[in-house]
Amino acid sequence: MSEIILIQAEYILTWDDGYKIISDGEILIEDSLITYTGPRLKRSPESINRVLNTSDSLVMPGFINTHTHAAMTLFRSYADDMSLMDWLQKKIWPVEAKLQREDIYWGTMLAILEMLKGGTTCFADMYFFMDEVARACGESGIRASISQGLIGIENAKGLDGLKESSRLVENWHKKDDGRITVMLGPHAPYTCPPAYLQKVASKAAELGIPIHIHLSETRSEVEECRAAYGKTPIELMDEIGLLEQNVLAAHCVHLTGREIEIISEKKVAVAHNPGSNLKLGSGVAPLAELLKKGALVSLGTDGASSNNNLDMVEEMRLAALLQKGVSEDPTVVTAEDALTMATLNGAKSLFLDEEIGTLRKGSKADLIMFNLKKPHFYPLHNLISHLVYSAASSDVELVMVNGKFLMEKGKLLTIDEERILFEAQNRALRLVKDM
Ligand SMILES: [Zn+2]
Repeated sequence: MSEIILIQAEYILTWDDGYKIISDGEILIEDSLITYTGPRLKRSPESINRVLNTSDSLVMPGFINTHTHAAMTLFRSYADDMSLMDWLQKKIWPVEAKLQREDIYWGTMLAILEMLKGGTTCFADMYFFMDEVARACGESGIRASISQGLIGIENAKGLDGLKESSRLVENWHKKDDGRITVMLGPHAPYTCPPAYLQKVASKAAELGIPIHIHLSETRSEVEECRAAYGKTPIELMDEIGLLEQNVLAAHCVHLTGREIEIISEKKVAVAHNPGSNLKLGSGVAPLAELLKKGALVSLGTDGASSNNNLDMVEEMRLAALLQKGVSEDPTVVTAEDALTMATLNGAKSLFLDEEIGTLRKGSKADLIMFNLKKPHFYPLHNLISHLVYSAASSDVELVMVNGKFLMEKGKLLTIDEERILFEAQNRALRLVKDM
Protein backbone atom coordinates (compact mmCIF):
# COMPACT_ATOMS: atom_id res chain seq x y z
CA MET A 1 0.00 0.00 0.00
CA SER A 2 1.31 3.39 -0.98
CA GLU A 3 1.48 6.20 1.53
CA ILE A 4 -0.22 9.24 -0.04
CA ILE A 5 0.33 12.69 1.45
CA LEU A 6 -1.17 15.99 0.29
CA ILE A 7 0.55 19.24 1.30
CA GLN A 8 -1.40 22.44 0.67
CA ALA A 9 0.42 25.75 0.92
CA GLU A 10 -0.18 29.43 0.34
CA TYR A 11 2.72 29.48 -2.11
CA ILE A 12 4.65 26.76 -3.89
CA LEU A 13 7.90 27.45 -5.70
CA THR A 14 8.18 25.38 -8.86
CA TRP A 15 10.50 25.43 -11.84
CA ASP A 16 9.55 25.67 -15.49
CA ASP A 17 12.45 27.27 -17.36
CA GLY A 18 12.76 29.60 -14.37
CA TYR A 19 11.05 29.85 -11.01
CA LYS A 20 7.26 30.02 -10.96
CA ILE A 21 5.13 30.65 -7.91
CA ILE A 22 1.80 28.89 -7.52
CA SER A 23 -0.60 30.60 -5.11
CA ASP A 24 -2.93 28.36 -3.09
CA GLY A 25 -1.27 25.28 -4.49
CA GLU A 26 -0.80 21.70 -3.46
CA ILE A 27 1.69 18.88 -3.81
CA LEU A 28 0.65 15.26 -3.86
CA ILE A 29 3.25 12.77 -2.70
CA GLU A 30 3.03 9.05 -3.23
CA ASP A 31 5.68 7.24 -1.18
CA SER A 32 8.93 8.97 -2.15
CA LEU A 33 7.67 10.67 -5.32
CA ILE A 34 5.86 13.88 -6.19
CA THR A 35 2.90 12.97 -8.39
CA TYR A 36 1.31 16.41 -8.66
CA THR A 37 2.30 20.04 -8.12
CA GLY A 38 -0.17 22.75 -9.05
CA PRO A 39 -3.40 24.53 -8.12
CA ARG A 40 -5.67 22.83 -5.60
CA LEU A 41 -7.93 20.17 -7.09
CA LYS A 42 -11.09 18.48 -5.86
CA ARG A 43 -9.98 15.13 -4.46
CA SER A 44 -11.68 12.31 -2.65
CA PRO A 45 -10.28 12.41 0.89
CA GLU A 46 -10.38 8.62 1.37
CA SER A 47 -7.62 8.20 -1.24
CA ILE A 48 -5.21 10.28 0.87
CA ASN A 49 -3.51 9.12 4.05
CA ARG A 50 -2.70 12.57 5.33
CA VAL A 51 -3.62 16.13 4.34
CA LEU A 52 -1.40 18.90 5.66
CA ASN A 53 -3.06 22.26 5.15
CA THR A 54 -0.61 25.07 5.89
CA SER A 55 -1.18 28.83 5.88
CA ASP A 56 1.35 31.69 5.65
CA SER A 57 3.60 29.13 4.03
CA LEU A 58 6.00 28.74 1.14
CA VAL A 59 6.86 25.20 0.06
CA MET A 60 9.98 24.89 -2.06
CA PRO A 61 12.72 22.39 -2.93
CA GLY A 62 15.16 21.70 -0.07
CA PHE A 63 18.58 23.33 -0.17
CA ILE A 64 21.50 21.30 -1.51
CA ASN A 65 24.85 21.95 0.14
CA THR A 66 27.41 20.75 -2.41
CA HIS A 67 30.56 20.96 -0.34
CA THR A 68 31.08 20.21 3.31
CA HIS A 69 32.99 18.06 5.78
CA ALA A 70 30.10 17.34 8.09
CA ALA A 71 31.92 15.96 11.13
CA MET A 72 34.10 19.07 11.29
CA THR A 73 31.24 20.56 13.30
CA LEU A 74 33.26 19.12 16.21
CA PHE A 75 35.91 21.79 15.51
CA ARG A 76 33.54 24.73 15.19
CA SER A 77 35.23 27.73 16.86
CA TYR A 78 38.25 25.60 17.80
CA ALA A 79 40.66 27.43 15.46
CA ASP A 80 39.56 30.69 13.92
CA ASP A 81 41.17 33.73 12.33
CA MET A 82 44.04 31.76 10.74
CA SER A 83 45.23 31.27 7.15
CA LEU A 84 44.27 28.00 5.42
CA MET A 85 47.70 26.35 5.63
CA ASP A 86 48.36 27.42 9.24
CA TRP A 87 44.86 26.38 10.18
CA LEU A 88 45.24 22.96 8.52
CA GLN A 89 48.80 22.17 9.56
CA LYS A 90 48.88 23.58 13.09
CA LYS A 91 45.34 22.97 14.31
CA ILE A 92 43.06 20.83 12.15
CA TRP A 93 45.28 17.97 10.92
CA PRO A 94 46.73 17.24 14.42
CA VAL A 95 43.29 17.06 16.03
CA GLU A 96 41.81 15.12 13.08
CA ALA A 97 44.47 12.47 13.69
CA LYS A 98 42.72 11.74 17.01
CA LEU A 99 39.25 11.26 15.52
CA GLN A 100 37.65 7.88 16.04
CA ARG A 101 34.73 6.29 14.22
CA GLU A 102 32.11 7.24 16.77
CA ASP A 103 33.31 10.85 16.74
CA ILE A 104 32.62 11.01 13.01
CA TYR A 105 29.14 9.63 13.56
CA TRP A 106 28.24 12.20 16.24
CA GLY A 107 29.94 15.10 14.45
CA THR A 108 27.99 14.22 11.31
CA MET A 109 24.78 13.92 13.31
CA LEU A 110 25.36 17.43 14.68
CA ALA A 111 25.84 18.66 11.10
CA ILE A 112 22.68 16.89 9.94
CA LEU A 113 20.72 18.36 12.86
CA GLU A 114 21.87 21.84 11.90
CA MET A 115 21.29 21.31 8.17
CA LEU A 116 17.79 19.88 8.54
CA LYS A 117 16.77 22.72 10.86
CA GLY A 118 17.94 25.19 8.22
CA GLY A 119 16.18 23.48 5.30
CA THR A 120 19.09 21.56 3.77
CA THR A 121 17.84 18.21 2.48
CA CYS A 122 20.97 16.98 0.69
CA PHE A 123 24.70 17.50 1.14
CA ALA A 124 27.97 16.46 -0.48
CA ASP A 125 30.44 15.30 2.13
CA MET A 126 34.16 14.58 1.89
CA TYR A 127 35.83 13.16 4.98
CA PHE A 128 36.84 9.78 6.42
CA PHE A 129 35.22 6.85 8.28
CA MET A 130 32.50 7.39 5.68
CA ASP A 131 30.55 4.31 6.80
CA GLU A 132 29.71 6.35 9.89
CA VAL A 133 28.54 9.24 7.72
CA ALA A 134 26.38 6.84 5.72
CA ARG A 135 24.99 5.41 8.97
CA ALA A 136 24.10 8.93 10.19
CA CYS A 137 22.39 9.69 6.86
CA GLY A 138 20.56 6.38 6.91
CA GLU A 139 19.20 6.95 10.42
CA SER A 140 18.33 10.62 10.07
CA GLY A 141 16.68 10.32 6.66
CA ILE A 142 18.69 13.09 4.94
CA ARG A 143 20.08 12.65 1.41
CA ALA A 144 23.84 12.77 0.81
CA SER A 145 26.59 12.19 -1.69
CA ILE A 146 29.58 10.96 0.27
CA SER A 147 33.25 10.62 -0.60
CA GLN A 148 36.23 9.27 1.27
CA GLY A 149 38.91 12.01 1.31
CA LEU A 150 41.93 10.62 -0.58
CA ILE A 151 45.53 11.70 -0.01
CA GLY A 152 47.92 10.41 -2.66
CA ILE A 153 51.33 11.62 -1.51
CA GLU A 154 52.32 8.18 -0.22
CA ASN A 155 51.63 5.60 -2.90
CA ALA A 156 50.50 2.77 -0.59
CA LYS A 157 48.13 4.96 1.41
CA GLY A 158 46.71 6.43 -1.78
CA LEU A 159 45.98 2.99 -3.20
CA ASP A 160 44.42 1.87 0.09
CA GLY A 161 42.15 4.91 -0.12
CA LEU A 162 41.03 3.90 -3.60
CA LYS A 163 40.27 0.38 -2.40
CA GLU A 164 38.32 1.84 0.51
CA SER A 165 36.39 4.02 -1.93
CA SER A 166 35.50 1.00 -4.09
CA ARG A 167 34.21 -0.73 -0.98
CA LEU A 168 32.20 2.37 -0.10
CA VAL A 169 30.62 2.32 -3.57
CA GLU A 170 29.77 -1.36 -3.20
CA ASN A 171 28.26 -0.93 0.26
CA TRP A 172 26.50 2.40 -0.01
CA HIS A 173 26.02 3.69 -3.55
CA LYS A 174 22.27 4.17 -4.15
CA LYS A 175 21.49 2.53 -0.81
CA ASP A 176 18.95 3.55 1.85
CA ASP A 177 16.14 4.00 -0.67
CA GLY A 178 18.61 5.65 -3.04
CA ARG A 179 19.29 8.51 -0.62
CA ILE A 180 23.01 7.83 -0.45
CA THR A 181 25.32 8.12 -3.44
CA VAL A 182 29.09 7.91 -3.51
CA MET A 183 31.80 9.95 -5.23
CA LEU A 184 35.59 9.59 -5.29
CA GLY A 185 37.19 12.31 -3.15
CA PRO A 186 40.81 13.13 -4.05
CA HIS A 187 41.50 15.95 -1.58
CA ALA A 188 43.39 18.43 -3.80
CA PRO A 189 46.26 18.67 -6.32
CA TYR A 190 48.65 19.64 -3.49
CA THR A 191 47.91 16.39 -1.63
CA CYS A 192 47.38 14.17 -4.70
CA PRO A 193 50.13 14.17 -7.37
CA PRO A 194 49.14 13.94 -11.08
CA ALA A 195 49.96 10.22 -11.44
CA TYR A 196 47.67 9.45 -8.52
CA LEU A 197 44.89 11.68 -9.84
CA GLN A 198 45.05 9.76 -13.13
CA LYS A 199 44.45 6.55 -11.16
CA VAL A 200 41.49 8.25 -9.47
CA ALA A 201 40.11 9.28 -12.87
CA SER A 202 40.32 5.74 -14.24
CA LYS A 203 38.73 4.36 -11.09
CA ALA A 204 35.88 6.89 -11.43
CA ALA A 205 35.36 5.81 -15.05
CA GLU A 206 35.45 2.14 -14.06
CA LEU A 207 32.92 2.60 -11.24
CA GLY A 208 30.80 5.12 -13.14
CA ILE A 209 30.79 7.65 -10.32
CA PRO A 210 31.77 11.35 -10.12
CA ILE A 211 34.83 12.96 -8.51
CA HIS A 212 34.69 15.54 -5.69
CA ILE A 213 37.90 17.59 -5.29
CA HIS A 214 39.18 20.92 -3.92
CA LEU A 215 40.66 23.11 -6.69
CA SER A 216 42.33 26.54 -6.69
CA GLU A 217 41.26 27.53 -3.21
CA THR A 218 44.14 29.89 -2.41
CA ARG A 219 46.57 32.01 -4.36
CA SER A 220 49.55 30.15 -2.86
CA GLU A 221 48.11 26.80 -4.02
CA VAL A 222 48.00 28.12 -7.58
CA GLU A 223 51.53 29.53 -7.35
CA GLU A 224 52.91 26.25 -5.98
CA CYS A 225 51.17 24.29 -8.72
CA ARG A 226 52.65 26.61 -11.35
CA ALA A 227 56.11 26.23 -9.82
CA ALA A 228 55.88 22.42 -9.66
CA TYR A 229 54.11 21.67 -12.96
CA GLY A 230 54.25 24.88 -15.01
CA LYS A 231 50.46 24.95 -15.04
CA THR A 232 47.58 26.21 -12.93
CA PRO A 233 45.48 23.58 -11.10
CA ILE A 234 42.59 23.63 -13.60
CA GLU A 235 45.00 23.43 -16.57
CA LEU A 236 46.82 20.58 -14.88
CA MET A 237 43.57 18.70 -14.20
CA ASP A 238 42.59 19.19 -17.83
CA GLU A 239 45.98 17.99 -19.09
CA ILE A 240 45.97 14.79 -17.04
CA GLY A 241 42.43 13.93 -18.16
CA LEU A 242 40.65 14.32 -14.84
CA LEU A 243 38.09 16.71 -16.34
CA GLU A 244 36.90 14.03 -18.78
CA GLN A 245 35.09 12.59 -15.76
CA ASN A 246 32.10 14.15 -13.96
CA VAL A 247 33.87 16.50 -11.57
CA LEU A 248 32.56 18.55 -8.66
CA ALA A 249 35.27 21.12 -7.87
CA ALA A 250 35.06 22.99 -4.59
CA HIS A 251 36.22 26.62 -4.37
CA CYS A 252 37.74 27.61 -7.78
CA VAL A 253 38.63 30.99 -6.24
CA HIS A 254 41.73 31.90 -8.24
CA LEU A 255 41.05 31.37 -11.93
CA THR A 256 42.42 32.78 -15.18
CA GLY A 257 40.09 33.60 -18.07
CA ARG A 258 41.30 30.46 -19.81
CA GLU A 259 40.47 28.35 -16.75
CA ILE A 260 36.93 29.74 -16.64
CA GLU A 261 36.58 28.65 -20.28
CA ILE A 262 37.91 25.16 -19.48
CA ILE A 263 35.46 24.85 -16.57
CA SER A 264 32.54 25.76 -18.85
CA GLU A 265 33.69 23.63 -21.79
CA LYS A 266 34.39 20.54 -19.68
CA LYS A 267 31.19 21.05 -17.67
CA VAL A 268 33.03 21.02 -14.35
CA ALA A 269 30.52 21.60 -11.55
CA VAL A 270 31.82 24.34 -9.25
CA ALA A 271 30.89 24.33 -5.57
CA HIS A 272 31.14 27.97 -4.54
CA ASN A 273 31.86 28.47 -0.82
CA PRO A 274 31.81 32.22 -0.21
CA GLY A 275 31.64 32.03 3.60
CA SER A 276 34.59 29.70 4.00
CA ASN A 277 36.66 31.57 1.39
CA LEU A 278 36.07 34.83 3.20
CA LYS A 279 36.78 33.46 6.65
CA LEU A 280 40.03 31.78 5.66
CA GLY A 281 41.03 34.90 3.73
CA SER A 282 41.30 32.79 0.58
CA GLY A 283 39.72 35.40 -1.67
CA VAL A 284 36.54 35.93 -3.67
CA ALA A 285 35.75 33.52 -6.50
CA PRO A 286 34.93 35.06 -9.90
CA LEU A 287 31.33 33.89 -9.60
CA ALA A 288 29.82 36.54 -11.87
CA GLU A 289 32.34 35.63 -14.61
CA LEU A 290 31.70 31.91 -14.20
CA LEU A 291 27.94 32.43 -14.51
CA LYS A 292 28.43 34.73 -17.51
CA LYS A 293 30.39 31.97 -19.27
CA GLY A 294 27.61 29.48 -18.55
CA ALA A 295 29.46 27.46 -15.89
CA LEU A 296 27.43 25.28 -13.55
CA VAL A 297 27.86 26.74 -10.06
CA SER A 298 26.23 25.54 -6.86
CA LEU A 299 26.69 26.52 -3.22
CA GLY A 300 28.54 24.89 -0.35
CA THR A 301 29.22 25.85 3.22
CA ASP A 302 32.48 23.89 3.53
CA GLY A 303 33.09 22.46 7.02
CA ALA A 304 31.73 24.19 10.10
CA SER A 305 35.26 24.90 11.32
CA SER A 306 35.87 27.31 8.44
CA ASN A 307 32.45 28.93 8.04
CA ASN A 308 31.35 28.50 10.99
CA ASN A 309 27.83 27.31 10.28
CA LEU A 310 26.05 25.18 7.68
CA ASP A 311 23.45 27.78 6.78
CA MET A 312 22.48 27.80 3.10
CA VAL A 313 20.31 30.92 3.40
CA GLU A 314 23.34 32.81 4.66
CA GLU A 315 25.42 31.33 1.85
CA MET A 316 22.93 32.47 -0.83
CA ARG A 317 22.93 35.99 0.54
CA LEU A 318 26.73 36.11 0.80
CA ALA A 319 27.14 34.82 -2.74
CA ALA A 320 24.91 37.54 -4.16
CA LEU A 321 26.04 40.47 -2.01
CA LEU A 322 29.74 39.74 -2.26
CA GLN A 323 29.75 39.74 -6.07
CA LYS A 324 27.75 42.95 -6.24
CA GLY A 325 30.16 44.61 -3.83
CA VAL A 326 33.43 43.57 -5.42
CA SER A 327 32.23 44.25 -8.97
CA GLU A 328 30.49 47.51 -7.98
CA ASP A 329 27.58 46.23 -10.06
CA PRO A 330 24.29 45.39 -8.30
CA THR A 331 22.92 43.62 -11.38
CA VAL A 332 25.29 40.65 -11.14
CA VAL A 333 24.23 37.47 -9.28
CA THR A 334 20.52 38.15 -8.88
CA ALA A 335 18.33 36.68 -6.15
CA GLU A 336 17.13 34.13 -8.68
CA ASP A 337 20.74 33.20 -9.55
CA ALA A 338 21.54 32.65 -5.88
CA LEU A 339 18.41 30.57 -5.28
CA THR A 340 19.10 28.45 -8.37
CA MET A 341 22.63 27.77 -7.14
CA ALA A 342 21.26 26.60 -3.78
CA THR A 343 18.66 24.24 -5.27
CA LEU A 344 18.57 23.13 -8.92
CA ASN A 345 22.26 23.73 -9.63
CA GLY A 346 23.07 21.78 -6.48
CA ALA A 347 21.14 18.82 -7.86
CA LYS A 348 22.90 19.10 -11.22
CA SER A 349 26.29 19.36 -9.51
CA LEU A 350 25.69 16.10 -7.67
CA PHE A 351 24.41 14.56 -10.91
CA LEU A 352 21.04 14.04 -9.23
CA ASP A 353 18.89 16.51 -11.19
CA GLU A 354 16.75 13.70 -12.57
CA GLU A 355 15.64 13.11 -8.98
CA ILE A 356 15.84 16.31 -6.95
CA GLY A 357 16.24 20.10 -7.18
CA THR A 358 12.68 20.97 -8.25
CA LEU A 359 9.16 20.01 -7.17
CA ARG A 360 8.01 18.78 -10.57
CA LYS A 361 5.97 15.63 -11.09
CA GLY A 362 8.24 12.60 -10.94
CA SER A 363 10.81 14.20 -8.61
CA LYS A 364 11.69 12.77 -5.24
CA ALA A 365 9.80 14.62 -2.53
CA ASP A 366 12.66 16.62 -0.95
CA LEU A 367 10.94 19.80 0.16
CA ILE A 368 10.89 22.43 2.87
CA MET A 369 8.37 24.94 4.16
CA PHE A 370 9.15 28.50 5.22
CA ASN A 371 6.80 30.18 7.71
CA LEU A 372 6.09 33.54 6.08
CA LYS A 373 4.37 35.05 9.13
CA LYS A 374 7.50 36.99 10.08
CA PRO A 375 8.08 40.76 9.98
CA HIS A 376 10.98 40.39 7.56
CA PHE A 377 8.67 38.81 4.94
CA TYR A 378 6.27 41.81 4.91
CA PRO A 379 5.17 43.28 2.56
CA LEU A 380 5.35 40.56 -0.01
CA HIS A 381 6.48 42.10 -3.28
CA ASN A 382 8.84 39.36 -4.33
CA LEU A 383 9.20 35.96 -2.67
CA ILE A 384 12.50 35.06 -4.30
CA SER A 385 14.05 38.34 -3.15
CA HIS A 386 12.74 37.62 0.34
CA LEU A 387 14.33 34.18 0.39
CA VAL A 388 17.74 35.47 -0.59
CA TYR A 389 17.87 38.95 0.96
CA SER A 390 15.74 38.75 4.11
CA ALA A 391 14.98 35.16 5.13
CA ALA A 392 16.59 33.33 8.03
CA SER A 393 17.19 29.60 7.90
CA SER A 394 15.31 29.38 11.21
CA ASP A 395 12.14 30.35 9.32
CA VAL A 396 12.09 26.78 7.97
CA GLU A 397 9.52 24.79 9.94
CA LEU A 398 8.97 21.65 7.90
CA VAL A 399 11.37 19.34 6.11
CA MET A 400 10.57 16.30 4.00
CA VAL A 401 13.17 14.06 2.33
CA ASN A 402 12.27 11.21 0.00
CA GLY A 403 8.60 11.57 0.95
CA LYS A 404 9.24 11.28 4.72
CA PHE A 405 8.70 14.08 7.21
CA LEU A 406 11.98 14.72 9.04
CA MET A 407 10.89 17.94 10.73
CA GLU A 408 7.46 19.38 11.52
CA LYS A 409 6.73 22.63 13.35
CA GLY A 410 10.47 22.96 13.88
CA LYS A 411 10.70 19.63 15.70
CA LEU A 412 13.02 16.89 14.46
CA LEU A 413 11.23 13.57 14.06
CA THR A 414 14.00 11.09 13.30
CA ILE A 415 16.84 12.21 15.55
CA ASP A 416 17.34 12.92 19.22
CA GLU A 417 18.49 16.52 19.37
CA GLU A 418 19.51 16.57 23.07
CA ARG A 419 21.60 13.42 22.75
CA ILE A 420 23.43 14.79 19.71
CA LEU A 421 24.28 18.07 21.43
CA PHE A 422 25.50 16.20 24.52
CA GLU A 423 27.69 13.74 22.58
CA ALA A 424 29.11 16.41 20.29
CA GLN A 425 30.08 18.67 23.17
CA ASN A 426 31.77 15.91 25.21
CA ARG A 427 33.57 14.38 22.24
CA ALA A 428 34.82 17.73 20.96
CA LEU A 429 36.22 18.63 24.38
CA ARG A 430 37.97 15.24 24.63
CA LEU A 431 39.54 15.70 21.19
CA VAL A 432 41.08 19.10 21.88
CA LYS A 433 42.21 18.25 25.40
CA ASP A 434 46.03 18.55 25.68
CA MET A 435 46.29 20.03 22.18
ZN1 LIG B 1 36.51 21.66 1.81
